[in-house]
Amino acid sequence: MHPLYNHPMLIRRHVRTSFACLLPSLAAGAAFAAEPVSEPRFDHHVHVLGPGLVRDWKSLGVTFSRPDAHYVAADSVLGGEQPLEQALLVPMAHLYGNEELRLGLKLSLAEEQARTATENDHVAAEAARWPGRAAAFCSADWRRPYAREEFERCVTRWKSPGLKLHLASAGSDLQDAGQLAALRDLLGWAHARGLAVLVHFDPQRRGLDVPDVTRFAAEVLGPYPDLDVTIAHLGGSGGYRAWPRRVFGAFLDWLDAEKQAGRARSGVRFDVSAALLEKESEGVPATTDAEAAELGRDLLRAGPARLLFASDAPVFDPRTTWTQLATRTGLPAGFFVALRDRRAPVLERIAR
Ligand SMILES: [Zn+2]
Repeated sequence: MHPLYNHPMLIRRHVRTSFACLLPSLAAGAAFAAEPVSEPRFDHHVHVLGPGLVRDWKSLGVTFSRPDAHYVAADSVLGGEQPLEQALLVPMAHLYGNEELRLGLKLSLAEEQARTATENDHVAAEAARWPGRAAAFCSADWRRPYAREEFERCVTRWKSPGLKLHLASAGSDLQDAGQLAALRDLLGWAHARGLAVLVHFDPQRRGLDVPDVTRFAAEVLGPYPDLDVTIAHLGGSGGYRAWPRRVFGAFLDWLDAEKQAGRARSGVRFDVSAALLEKESEGVPATTDAEAAELGRDLLRAGPARLLFASDAPVFDPRTTWTQLATRTGLPAGFFVALRDRRAPVLERIAR
């Protein structure tokens, strides 16, 4: 797969792939009109790397398959001959707090914080290059001592609409009550400022199961019924094998229970990026036909209102991701008409 993530030092996702197929049970998707499936309009998970991060990775032996320009700007999504209308730009600034990366680079705490800030600034400046079409979140390793200071600085300086948290990169432990409390505080801080939050939830730790997901939902998201929070990759780290399926299912079960209790939680959404792998990626095999069918069933259960189209560019291409989902999940064309028009409030607000 993409060398960007191939280096053993970098954060792995678990992924998986296969071939698509039709779901007879979905033929009854009468709620969705049969219209032609067209191109995506919005991409809610587009990574932009600063030249500093590219340089730092190269210094550690990571090779990049394309020219730097492909990684440091959003042109592959917003420019070119088939531009998408809008994109949410997601920094990888949190990686500077990642233990392997910062130890590999031998960064002092001050250098780590400075490079995190520079990375966020690059992505925010890139968003500013696309007025009305791109919004950039602010990212930092949430467990590092400077995290709150950097979030505050970044959202203030750039009027950023949200935060990106990566639980795996930070070495988060969902069975640690102290960490759950700290995450709850951080989300409370974001919520009080009207910020949206994009969470790479999957901590990529062994020994976790559905109750841990449910506890996270109840204890971390629970106190903020109107929080705008998106769970990246449907709760996994790429692919749709057993674990991401259990996580997504656990979140959907929790949302069902919340609805029964009178809390709609319409701000809780899931981005579909990297869930359907066309090819093997980072050691996770391509998504199988059976997995693609399961993905289709679960996406139908969630419904388009809970979903945001996203690709995880530049690792994956949004148009390819769209075609894969449209041809392999067995979902009716009308589902994709609805999904195509789904846009997060942070993009809605900047639209001209
Ligand atoms: Zn990502």
